[in-house]
Amino acid sequence: MLNILVSIKQVPDTTNIRINPDTGTLIREGVPSIINPYDIVALSLAYQLKLRFKAKVTVITMGPPQAKNALKEAVEFGADRIILLCDRKFAGADTLATSYTLAEAIRFLQREELFDLFLFGKQAIDGDTAQVGPGVANRLGIPVITYVVKIENLDPIHRKIVVHRKTEKGIEVLEAPFPILLTCEKDLSPLPFVPLENILKAQRAEPETFNAEGPLSFQRDKLGLKGSPTQVKKVYTPELKRIGKIYNLDDVSLDDVVSKILDVLRERDLL
Ligand SMILES: Cc1cc2nc3c(=O)[nH]c(=O)nc-3n(C[C@H](O)[C@H](O)[C@H](O)COP(=O)(O)OP(=O)(O)OC[C@H]3O[C@@H](n4cnc5c(N)ncnc54)[C@H](O)[C@@H]3O)c2cc1C
Repeated sequence: MLNILVSIKQVPDTTNIRINPDTGTLIREGVPSIINPYDIVALSLAYQLKLRFKAKVTVITMGPPQAKNALKEAVEFGADRIILLCDRKFAGADTLATSYTLAEAIRFLQREELFDLFLFGKQAIDGDTAQVGPGVANRLGIPVITYVVKIENLDPIHRKIVVHRKTEKGIEVLEAPFPILLTCEKDLSPLPFVPLENILKAQRAEPETFNAEGPLSFQRDKLGLKGSPTQVKKVYTPELKRIGKIYNLDDVSLDDVVSKILDVLRERDLL
């Protein structure tokens, strides 16, 4: 049986995120939350593979208590097991601490059953670093393929997969053995039709909750704000200053504009 792990992040359903000026961390209270859109793609793919290969799907998230709602929504996408990593000691984590906490929890789950496929979103729409997927793969010692736009073939018998990956230069086609971690691009998998039974099952679903006390033990100095070398020093909205001069090419020739720009650069010793 194909065994899939999906890692999802609950993010603020807004673009104007507010940061706590004292801790430099995100203010989540009172802000409506959604599942990170790239993780919806990962869930949709897992659901397609579940229907096609009778896969088992485990979904994990690290977040505050309300992240439970993201996991309940994942049950609508066919999740069989949902795990919430929730503890104040996990809070304020940068990508190093986040990938550590997730990788340790996944290592613990793998004592029971090994995963073949790990599905992460390409990036989270709030932190935007795209670092957690590769970070977790590195900690678990498994290969990672980022920016996946298509699954060309998945062969559970010979335990390998062929994917298309987006790069600056175009599309790469890669074959890889299981276990493999993929980060999903937005057009990888369409939203599936979710049957009513899944919606009803989601309403009753309760996640297993792991905290800093157990069921596994964590290295405390690698958790949350304490385990985060990235300290947000100051968060502010930069003031937009328009100091430039706008040239209308209907009035002046391009050559004139270029020589004016060169003059300005020379004046400022930039040339
Ligand atoms: C505005 C802002 C800026 C930030 N800048 C930085 C920074 O420069 N450096 C830094 O280290 N941290 C930064 N952080 C903190 C960072 O958001 C957290 O470390 C976060 O947990 C992971 O990073 P990310 O949001 O960039 O996720 P990404 O690495 O972009 O997420 C990629 C994928 O990893 C998985 N994933 C990510 N977070 C979780 C989670 N909590 N639970 C389960 N799966 C998850 C999801 O599949 C997601 O699609 C920033 C946060 C904010 C709000």
